[in-house]
Amino acid sequence: MTISFDLDDTLIPGMKRFPTEPQRFWHRLVSREKLRAGTLTLMRALREQDCKIYIYTTSLRSRAYIRRLFLSYGIQLDKVINKTVHDKALLGQAGSVSKLPSAFDIDLHIDDSPGVEQEGVRFNFRTFIVEEQDEDWVGNVLMKIKSLPGLAGRM
Ligand SMILES: [Mg+2]
Repeated sequence: MTISFDLDDTLIPGMKRFPTEPQRFWHRLVSREKLRAGTLTLMRALREQDCKIYIYTTSLRSRAYIRRLFLSYGIQLDKVINKTVHDKALLGQAGSVSKLPSAFDIDLHIDDSPGVEQEGVRFNFRTFIVEEQDEDWVGNVLMKIKSLPGLAGRM
């Protein structure tokens, strides 16, 4: 199974505020951006279930930078989709939808935006929306994955 994550306000605080993973000094060499508390636990759990982990952001951060940021926390990403990759893959359609996880064979996309959730309904892809205040977001994401019909055998 392939799971993708949005960055801004989902895994990295911006407008929305949530607790973050503790930072070691080497993180600061890579970036001032911090990952949401629970990200490491969740991604390790996904790895144990043989899930592929993608980042899908419409920001202009470079793919190399995003990979480095996660590597500094010990997380290897399977794929990074940024705005450049999204635009290239969707060509003319890129302007009409902010994210299209189904175009990248993603089974579930994790995001903070209700707009992306609505696009999921419209364009037929699965989403899970993480609330700013959700202290058990890791458990809730894992529960959502378990509940997906017909995917259990592929995990
Ligand atoms: Mg976001």
